[in-house]
Amino acid sequence: MRNDSTLALRDANASLELAVDGGQALRPEPDETCPLDMRGLTVSYGEKPAVFSVDATFVTGSMTAIVGPNGAGKSTLLKAALGIVTPLSGSVHIFGRTFAESRRRIAYVPQRASVDWDFPTRVIDVVMMGLYGDLGLLRISGKRHRDTVLACLERVGMADFAQRQIGQLSGGQQQRVFLARALAQDADLYLLDEPFAGVDAATEKAIIDVLKQLKAESRTVVCVHHDLATVADYFDHVLLINVRKVAEGPVARAFTAETLQATYGGRLATTHIDQLKLPAA
Ligand code: ADP
Ligand code: MG
Repeated sequence: MRNDSTLALRDANASLELAVDGGQALRPEPDETCPLDMRGLTVSYGEKPAVFSVDATFVTGSMTAIVGPNGAGKSTLLKAALGIVTPLSGSVHIFGRTFAESRRRIAYVPQRASVDWDFPTRVIDVVMMGLYGDLGLLRISGKRHRDTVLACLERVGMADFAQRQIGQLSGGQQQRVFLARALAQDADLYLLDEPFAGVDAATEKAIIDVLKQLKAESRTVVCVHHDLATVADYFDHVLLINVRKVAEGPVARAFTAETLQATYGGRLATTHIDQLKLPAA
């Protein structure tokens, strides 16, 4: 009978077989088929690392939740992938290349709280920003671009709000607009930081439906996700981190009471784990 421990053993054997160069090459080299690969990634803002020696590989067409307690380094990990923060050590490959070489293939939706819309900007202009790569330096938009933007707003149920000021919208509506901007980028890799935080139920449904469409189109979706109760419903892969990586892989294998305990420690009472919808053992 094959169970988790035999799988783990098989994986360990596979790793051993691949291990060359003093055990450094436990994973195959990232090539253009791998949307995102991180190796030995360490990021520090001060003396204490926010992310320590994280190896992670993301699979084409997968939806991965990055899960871990507050301050675990989840946002930092995304920012390091995007070149927003510079790692102390380690490497990031996006489709086998550097971030700069692959930037046209990546869309990022930052944590909403980190975006301040005090200056007046219309919804349609926010989404139009997703097309800047396509518009060129002069940023002249024609009917084709406006149609694309409106179609993206339609997909998130916000077409009626195109002329509104972004600052006048609710948090959930703003989040949908940011997702529409990411859709306008027509990317292959979508990185989202807590897209469901503080949104209403209708927005949560609208967002997950769009993310699942992206997956159905073989695009790769990575979300920092704070709601453990929906991990198994929404995602097929999970990466658990608490500064260091605790586990990664398909939800059915990597999202377990043991890995959650190791990630959250005493902060997650066993009763909470019992209430979670964990994949069948
Ligand atoms: P998470 O997204 O998992 O909540 P973060 O990646 O935002 O965690 O933060 C990880 C750690 O790094 C935290 O201790 C946080 O306080 C710290 N940190 C994050 N951003 C900065 C920054 N710009 N300057 C200094 N410390 C930071
Ligand atoms: Mg964060």
